Amino acid sequence: MPKKTVEDIDVKDKRVLLRVDFNVPLNINTGVISDDSRIRASLPTIKYLVSRKARVIICSHLGRPKGKVVESLRMAPIAQRLSELVDLPVITASDCTGPEVESKAGKLKEGDILVLENLRFHPEEEENDAGFARKLAGLADIYVNDAFGTAHRAHASTVGVAKYLPAVAGFLMTKELRVMEKLLHDPERPSACLIGGAKVSDKMELLQNMLKRVDMLLVGGGMAATFLKAEGYEVGHSLVEDDKLELAKKLLQEAKEWKVPFLLPIDAIVAEEIRAGASTRVVPTTNIPVASHIVDIGPKSIALFQNGLKKCRTVMWNGPMGIYEMPQFAQGTRAIASFLSTLDATTIIGGGSSVEVVQEMGLTGKMTHVSTGGGASLRFLEGATLPGVEVLLDRK
Ligand code: ADP
Ligand code: MG
Repeated sequence: MPKKTVEDIDVKDKRVLLRVDFNVPLNINTGVISDDSRIRASLPTIKYLVSRKARVIICSHLGRPKGKVVESLRMAPIAQRLSELVDLPVITASDCTGPEVESKAGKLKEGDILVLENLRFHPEEEENDAGFARKLAGLADIYVNDAFGTAHRAHASTVGVAKYLPAVAGFLMTKELRVMEKLLHDPERPSACLIGGAKVSDKMELLQNMLKRVDMLLVGGGMAATFLKAEGYEVGHSLVEDDKLELAKKLLQEAKEWKVPFLLPIDAIVAEEIRAGASTRVVPTTNIPVASHIVDIGPKSIALFQNGLKKCRTVMWNGPMGIYEMPQFAQGTRAIASFLSTLDATTIIGGGSSVEVVQEMGLTGKMTHVSTGGGASLRFLEGATLPGVEVLLDRK
């Protein structure tokens, strides 16, 4: 990995500003955290810093307070959960800059942990304001970024601070980057990329970049309709991004030229209405009724995809195969998730929804890597440089 990590720098006695992604799902009425995996994901870095006797100053954003103080988005419940997980007291502050924080940061002893208030209570955070970055940086001697999930955003706490402090990657950041870099540059072959979900425009560039790097592409979910339409098929009322049709055609053509199999669903579950209890039919994708929506991939497509994937040594999956939030339309997604969990291959899961399904089905431990960064992993696999990674010190 070309970036310095927390192991490449002496942290003993030092005040370390640690940027994490503790943007966990939280019930805003009760403050109950429904899933603490993002907190757990940064524990290796936090425990390491504590064991090396650093003075740890943790910062994160939570939700979308849009530059104002929002009481329900305070970091207190997260600091509390962190304290339970590390089994140590955790100090909190009512802001992330200012006299109170400076005083608390100044009094930290070796191994102490201070959690700053939600960074996004300040509009300057998302504006990557230099003055704000400087104030944050002023709290510490070293900056460690473990927030892979926010590394595609150029914010004060992910980019700005690195101008003022020696900046290195935490263990989670390092692990995410290692997995994604291997997938891009040196995957065990054959390798495949399976894309679903709804954000067609968000995922086209990823397909474009991966096309020349993998041995098979598979597209399901809402994404598939745009490709089916590009092939000239009727897709009824299915989700289509018409301004991406030309690009879809081009990708299908390039896949042919590069002899990369590009699998699309051959059958689909369709419904006239997208609602629980809607009546559904299985139809070939060459014959989608005009008055219907594609809501899931069909059984033959599941078999086709599984048959393609079973030969692969590396599989990256991003995006559900159907409108999985409705159990009736979740079969394709669930079948693919279970199947991937049984493969003797490197399995990498990215994307908010696909990760959610894998977690909900209890399959996390059966996958090689479940990414903590949906948007960040998409950008990375598009071939983009992540601003939060770029600013970290290079390994000589
Ligand atoms: P991810 O979060 O895994 O990256 P996206 O954000 O791109 O995935 O898309 C997730 C959404 O895609 C889900 O809300 C799901 O309901 C939707 N979706 C999946 N298949 C379809 C479909 N056939 N039609 C409409 N929406 C779909
Ligand atoms: Mg999503």
